Amino acid sequence: MLSKIISCALFGIDGNRIDVEVDISNGMPAFDIVGLPDSAVKESKERVKTAIKNSNISFPVKRITVNLAPADIRKEGPSFDLPIAVGILSCMGIINIKSTEKFMFTGELSLDGTIKPINGILPMVFSLYNEGIENFIVPFENRNEASLIKGANIFPVKNINELIDFLKNNNIKPYVNNISENIQKSSSYNLDFSDVKGQENVKRAMEIAAAGYHNILMIGPPGSGKTMMAKRLPSIMPPLSFEECINITKIYSVAGLLKDKNYLLKERPFRSPHHTISSAALAGGGRIPRPGEVSLATGGILFLDELPEFSRSSLEVLRQPLEDKTVTISRAQGILTYPADFMLVAAMNPCPCGYYGTDDRCHCTDNEIIKYTHKISGPLLDRIDIQVEASQINYDDFENYSKTETSEDILKRVIKAHNIQKKRFENENILFNSQMSPAQIEKFCVLGKNEKAIIKRAFEALKMSARGYHKTLKIARTIADIDNSENITVKHIGEAIQYRNLDRNYFE
Ligand SMILES: [Zn+2]
Repeated sequence: MLSKIISCALFGIDGNRIDVEVDISNGMPAFDIVGLPDSAVKESKERVKTAIKNSNISFPVKRITVNLAPADIRKEGPSFDLPIAVGILSCMGIINIKSTEKFMFTGELSLDGTIKPINGILPMVFSLYNEGIENFIVPFENRNEASLIKGANIFPVKNINELIDFLKNNNIKPYVNNISENIQKSSSYNLDFSDVKGQENVKRAMEIAAAGYHNILMIGPPGSGKTMMAKRLPSIMPPLSFEECINITKIYSVAGLLKDKNYLLKERPFRSPHHTISSAALAGGGRIPRPGEVSLATGGILFLDELPEFSRSSLEVLRQPLEDKTVTISRAQGILTYPADFMLVAAMNPCPCGYYGTDDRCHCTDNEIIKYTHKISGPLLDRIDIQVEASQINYDDFENYSKTETSEDILKRVIKAHNIQKKRFENENILFNSQMSPAQIEKFCVLGKNEKAIIKRAFEALKMSARGYHKTLKIARTIADIDNSENITVKHIGEAIQYRNLDRNYFE
């Protein structure tokens, strides 16, 4: 007797269809699983056997062979427990084989026959639904997440006996969650830029960063509010579309970080790993691979405070994501790719003690300062368009706090600038000013005579590199967009140059 059950294996954040074939024949009692199983799949033999027994069904004393096909796809994790059990029960005639044909099955079994939730249900349903499978039997606790895919019929089940009953009597209705696609208004950040007193130049730099999707580095003494401002950056980025929410949620689903109450992520992620983080935790990986911080920040902000304190190998990890918006993880079983599309926001002190240029507490020598700032490699600095100095806050900033703009005010300008870029890059392969190639810069950042004169003077005075020159133009383009100006003017170029002159002070 042979049965074939549809299931799914994850590869990165994509699901691959797996057919779980079960054969029961007479002969020496045995229970074998073939088809490249890892140790977790082997362990599932014990769970399946015990779960079936504890559901008051006697486990067959026969020769059982399970094949997970195709063999060349790596299967990981305990999610094959349920399809294997269903295959065995249908070979035994307890479940009618015909009744299983139109479903995909996934779930971990506990020893008492309960079906436990698994990681990655959202990408599994997403991928298989796109392959034409419409009906999904999922662990009860995964029901909200699974039902985010519109059109897919989700049947949540709690244990083996409930599942047998359902396949016999068809007595469960497809589950519908109460999330509406109109999430635009439901997202609300409780952090607002109006909380930040003073630091107008940094806030302005952040507005430009958000408007053109530029990476940004803040340099300033401790207590100048660098972290406070970084945390507020998501509040001036446009709300996520439903599709973007799904894409971000898929990553968190694979990472096992979704709580049932919070099964659709509606806000831009803000990840701020500590500088002691390992390069593996930043990039992702592990025996059962998990997305790292660079992937969990997708659609939002990766904030690295005290940038020079990160290990060289950790900073090295950032290079590929900043270039490709993905991260590739090499493993014994082959390579794996996760999305890693974030805005990098970095912060650092101007010197090891933090007070260089601020007050006479600083006794750092020139050599110490150079050693400190040079921990940040040239290739990483090359990926950061905007540099801005945060100064110490003074009393007047608190006095004048009532003038401060709210995040909503700033966001309106950011959204306008995004719309201008959308139109500009309609026929290009990019979305934002920060992504322009040198050829695109030439095409979209045409300067007049006066503007050329200004940038020439800055180029010579600041000893700018070719890259520095291109970055200045990209920032100027974004500033002009915020200003709703077709042309880049002297004012825009002048402001853009300010965000490049730290190179000379700190990094050369
Ligand atoms: Zn110092």
